[in-house]
Amino acid sequence: MYKINYAWIDQEFFYDGDDLGAVIKGDKTVFKAWAPLATGVYLNLYLDSEGRSRMESLPMERLDKGVWYVEILRDLDGCFYTYSFEYNHKKNHETIDIYAKACGVNGDMGAVIDFASTNPPGWESVKRPLCKNPCDAVIYECHVRDFSVHPSSGVPAKHRGKFLAMTKGGTRNRSTNTCLDHLLELGVTHVQLLPVADYATVDEAHPEKNQYNWGYDPKNYNCLEGSYSTDPYDPKCRVREFKQLVMELHKRGVGVIMDVVFNHTYYTEESAFERSFPYYYHRHINGKFTNGSGCGNETASEHLMMRKYIVDSLKFWATEYKIDGFRFDLMALHDIDTMNYIRDELDKIDPQILLYGEGWTGGASPIASDKLAYKWNSYRFGRVGIFNDNIRDSIKGGTFNVFDTGFVSGNAHTLEMLKRGIAGSVPHPELHEAKEGCWAFEPTQTINYCEAHDNNTLWDKLCICSKEAPESDRIRMDKLAAAIVILSQGVPFLQLGQDFLRTKPRILKPGEEPNEVNIFEENSYNSPDYTNAIDWTRKQKYRSVFEYYKALIALRKSSSLLRMSMKWEVEQKLSFWRINQGNFLIYSLFEGSESFVIALNGSGEDKYFDLPMGEWLLVLDENGKAYPDPRTGHVCCPRISAVVYKLKPM
Ligand code: CA
Repeated sequence: MYKINYAWIDQEFFYDGDDLGAVIKGDKTVFKAWAPLATGVYLNLYLDSEGRSRMESLPMERLDKGVWYVEILRDLDGCFYTYSFEYNHKKNHETIDIYAKACGVNGDMGAVIDFASTNPPGWESVKRPLCKNPCDAVIYECHVRDFSVHPSSGVPAKHRGKFLAMTKGGTRNRSTNTCLDHLLELGVTHVQLLPVADYATVDEAHPEKNQYNWGYDPKNYNCLEGSYSTDPYDPKCRVREFKQLVMELHKRGVGVIMDVVFNHTYYTEESAFERSFPYYYHRHINGKFTNGSGCGNETASEHLMMRKYIVDSLKFWATEYKIDGFRFDLMALHDIDTMNYIRDELDKIDPQILLYGEGWTGGASPIASDKLAYKWNSYRFGRVGIFNDNIRDSIKGGTFNVFDTGFVSGNAHTLEMLKRGIAGSVPHPELHEAKEGCWAFEPTQTINYCEAHDNNTLWDKLCICSKEAPESDRIRMDKLAAAIVILSQGVPFLQLGQDFLRTKPRILKPGEEPNEVNIFEENSYNSPDYTNAIDWTRKQKYRSVFEYYKALIALRKSSSLLRMSMKWEVEQKLSFWRINQGNFLIYSLFEGSESFVIALNGSGEDKYFDLPMGEWLLVLDENGKAYPDPRTGHVCCPRISAVVYKLKPM
């Protein structure tokens, strides 16, 4: 069975229709499934979401291109269904439809639903917020449960950890804004949600168990995760509540980016892909699944119907839910042609939809590395963004050696790599070193960050590798890191809570002695709320840090010089000062009469420099403050801090 001639399948049976799955057409419901080598396909209809009450099992009719079809002369809104695929005339496993767009509890049964009936009032008139160029975005990565599950969120208990917690303003911890109001106060433009599509390992039937997962264990790619809804048994509930989330964020000018995990399936052999058409949707060698994801398998985007599946899914999310962008997990497992095709197809819906992902894999793929969306092939998919691990590591030190330090923690050897990041990772005439940090096709291609859900938080890493420094100095390091991420050319990306020193405390195993490393969790994918939940009291405790991040975002928004979208602009309007003082650097940004001088001091000593001719306003000091009185001549950039001067307008 595994010796499939893929070229032949794709040539003979590629189906370009947009009607796979269950579609209600007036008072009829039409089901279509693609399975060119199946010898029979059956539709099973159920009244309940757990498969207890099968109504009937109907043979489907084979049409052209390996599509199987059955039409029911009823509007089946609210019914549940599965398919049974038969190969070699033997009954195969029953499975949920890979094209199911709604499902019952735990995603075992597809649900036929009338999507128009799920729209909250006002849904039709709400539009995507404007984002003219990706560098205008400030992305904030949030996990739905982390966001509100802690009692300090101020969210009513029944909505904590749910989609609905992101739909209402007015939540407070004492006098501090939390949750939705916090996003607006900070000024981020987009929220990137960790996977909200249906995932496998949280039992939706038992919310009282306080289970946790990031969600990189995908089960149904076109359905929502049930544990984030208030009723996982009602297929429409999660749809309606997620639309409410999108609508309320859109109303406030915030876009919603989904983290999508098409690179592997959680269940491998038992996945719906494999049960529908064995060996087609995954990559394999001699019948064995290859493991480019590190999760036991990898999907095969180079097979045309898998490519179409990814594109169909993204188009569905973008249109039905008005999603503003997609972040691809382990994007380098997808082939370059697929990524470019995705960009072309989403451009037809809305060219401002953001697309970016991880330019690496989780293991070895059998596909030639020049075919895949690795960072080193960046120029061949220049309209898709890539996470910038070079700027990340130059700021804070290597991710895989927790003791390694970076520019902000006193390491003077990352300066050249850091400059590449500041200049948007595009070629710059003044830069000749650290060539591996120069890979972006345009500044819009680099996603600049120093903290995400993976690995230690920035604050925890600083606590480990700079544990001798007093807390006040570690706070200076954190703020300097934020200044670099937010003021560099490219697209800035922050993790939820980074702006108030997010920490992930780890629960020690019985008998384990605490040390500076093991008290922090570096991989919290299934850790309890104790580790992952946002403790909003920290926002009050580290108020000055939050205010600093907020000031940085406001400053970035104030001038297009801080978010140039074209490499020729960076080449012409950004210039590094020729200074040679360890980890201290200054650069200028200028266009017409507008001009900035930005100084970054990663050293332990105050640094002095002379402002160019003219009167300058200090628009960002070490505390994020701006001052109305003009300055000239000799000025200071205090130890472990950034200062930004702007030429006083005439
Ligand atoms: Ca689930």
